[in-house]
Amino acid sequence: MSFLFLFDIDMTLIDTGGSGRRALEGAFSDLFGIENAFDGYHFQGKVDRAIFAEVYGRNTGLVLEDDVARELGRGYLVRLEEELAAGPYRILPGVLDLLRLLEAREDCFLGLATGNLEAAAHMKLAWGGLDGYFLAGGYGSDSAFRATLTRLGIERLSAAARSLGGTPPVGDARRRRVLVVGDTPADIAAAAANGVTSVAIATGGVAREDLADCGPDLLFDDMREFMAEANRNPRIVPDSA
Ligand SMILES: [Mg+2]
Repeated sequence: MSFLFLFDIDMTLIDTGGSGRRALEGAFSDLFGIENAFDGYHFQGKVDRAIFAEVYGRNTGLVLEDDVARELGRGYLVRLEEELAAGPYRILPGVLDLLRLLEAREDCFLGLATGNLEAAAHMKLAWGGLDGYFLAGGYGSDSAFRATLTRLGIERLSAAARSLGGTPPVGDARRRRVLVVGDTPADIAAAAANGVTSVAIATGGVAREDLADCGPDLLFDDMREFMAEANRNPRIVPDSA
């Protein structure tokens, strides 16, 4: 039976050096003439659609209508390309090795569960040459709720795995064979809401102790530590988890 891995992007796989924040600030300035719209705003684990609506509401007192949200998304993508080019950008330690290790295993299929808009997710990953590792995903353009986009990601990755000859887990087997990997309490909660394994990686802004308080199934300092565990234990999820 196959394993499905769904990865968060920002501060789990890559650190775009604040490109996303600067691109959104630029788009708010371009479209609405609002400067510094994101001062004091915390992005951690939030979903793009929800971020847009929250910050728009905070700055204008208005509800973000769908057509304005789409326009904002387009403006954001234009700015994001510029900001990624301006850098800095880094792939987090151990990420490439882990992706290569899992990709080489016939029983592992890789996907995404990210709050990024789909186009932004692929733009960010492509900048580091990581785009080709992921077969399917759930995105911030699918839903403002992380649990929902994670469910969609699992469904799509299951279908992709099946089409490639894999046997994606169903029913109770999903509990230990589907892993959601992320750096925030929101990633852990989304895994729990879907009844699958959460893997917390303490490479974002949330301290390891604070992630531990959220009760993840697995918790690592970084991807190098996760990689060592995956090498040591091919079944990946210990019996006790
Ligand atoms: Mg993240």
